Amino acid sequence: MNIFFVSSEVNPFVKVGGLADVAGALPKALSKLGCSVSVVMPGYRQIDFQGKSPSKFQKVLDVPLGYGNETADVDKLSLMKGLDLYLINNGAYFQRESPYDFPDDKRRFIFFSRASYELARILQPDIIHCNDWHTAIIPGYVRYFWDKEPVGTLFSIHNLAYQGVCDRDMFLYSSLPESAFNPEEVEYYGKFNIMKAGIVYSDMINTVSPTYAEEIKTPEFGCGLDGLLKKRSDALVGILNGIDEDEFNPGNDKYLPIKFTLDTIDKKEDVKKFLLEKLGLSYHKGAPLLSFIGRLWDQKGIDILVQAIPELMDKDVYMIILGTGSEYYHKTLEQMREAYPGKISINLKFDNELAHLIYGGSDFFLMPSKFEPCGLGQMIAMKYGTIPVVRGVGGLKDTVKEGETGFVFFDYTYTALLESIDRALNLYWNDRDGFYNMRKRVMLEDHSWDSSAKKYMELYSKILDLKRGV
Ligand code: ADP
Repeated sequence: MNIFFVSSEVNPFVKVGGLADVAGALPKALSKLGCSVSVVMPGYRQIDFQGKSPSKFQKVLDVPLGYGNETADVDKLSLMKGLDLYLINNGAYFQRESPYDFPDDKRRFIFFSRASYELARILQPDIIHCNDWHTAIIPGYVRYFWDKEPVGTLFSIHNLAYQGVCDRDMFLYSSLPESAFNPEEVEYYGKFNIMKAGIVYSDMINTVSPTYAEEIKTPEFGCGLDGLLKKRSDALVGILNGIDEDEFNPGNDKYLPIKFTLDTIDKKEDVKKFLLEKLGLSYHKGAPLLSFIGRLWDQKGIDILVQAIPELMDKDVYMIILGTGSEYYHKTLEQMREAYPGKISINLKFDNELAHLIYGGSDFFLMPSKFEPCGLGQMIAMKYGTIPVVRGVGGLKDTVKEGETGFVFFDYTYTALLESIDRALNLYWNDRDGFYNMRKRVMLEDHSWDSSAKKYMELYSKILDLKRGV
């Protein structure tokens, strides 16, 4: 089966969030299962080619859009047998100081989508697999313009909160037919909603956990699209993400100064000591280390975490926070750093190496998310024997079981968060065997891509059967 997998970020070439992890790992797992996968992403300035050199695949790719013909050129990099990376290059759109966050992002990703669609016409895959709003318009192009052998489309929702809503002039730029601008298709209260195109026109839709697939059909989590998602519920499924075990493995993690496995689990304490000292906190035995890694936005529950910190700091615990996000939380956390010297380490940056060390050296990993499509942090933490404390929403609910593989709270309040942390600390201080048993249990959980990749294969087959009218 030939899969054309389109994503705005792909690990390890460019990573901003969890989407890159998925776009890096799932295609690899699919190609190991025998698929031939073409991964397509923009040719950003920030790409780290990992020492390899891409070759020119297409010197001039015509990209027909609303304001006339534009062009891209396409590079290709072979990653392994059955797995190629294609880069859509256009200097004006992608040679900038960061991958996202420009006023013309909608235009940039409409361009990327149309260029990817034109590349798909050349490669003629069996399935075009699109991810999040950046690529959601591609199934619309397929619906209206595809002129080759039938192709199936899958749209994956990694985060419904970002929908690419923009003015009608971007719809005109997209070059979808005028008739598509109606509330049944891509219009959204007079605006153009790019995410809607993915939901309306794809053969099948999936989200990244079974619970989130249910949640988004409700007003609380549906971000205004719950009605449409309910309407398409026959075509909507949830498949849990996995983690890339080549990258996240305490037994051979290049960033850990001391490696450990289930059999040498005691060495985890040495990683903790190394980590604390690296961050200027002096280690003493018996004080657990609680950590948080993630975007500093309300989605991640940073507001209730900040409220809980003063009470937490009264206890004999350490805390490490790594993340970037809103200016407000940067300032608030800087104040926490001043208030609790020697107990809390605040790291306001994106730092992959430090993230690995934190996963490796922590005792507990906090994810108090308001909503969480899947969440990778809790699964990565488990792989390193770090016990998750999470809010029971979305993929967190699907991956963490209270008292067995972590601690779960439900009310979105700092008091509920503190209560779940107290249960965790009680285990740590008062039931050492129970704590070590849980630590071992979480390490044994299978969050590899193997089983999820098989589910994607089944979904692709189902789509092809639908196309063939089987
Ligand atoms: P998101 O909603 O951001 O996609 P996920 O939990 O699905 O959240 O994935 C986030 C990924 O990004 C994880 O691999 C996490 O370790 C990583 N990450 C988040 N913030 C940082 C940071 N500041 N430094 C390093 N890695 C980070």
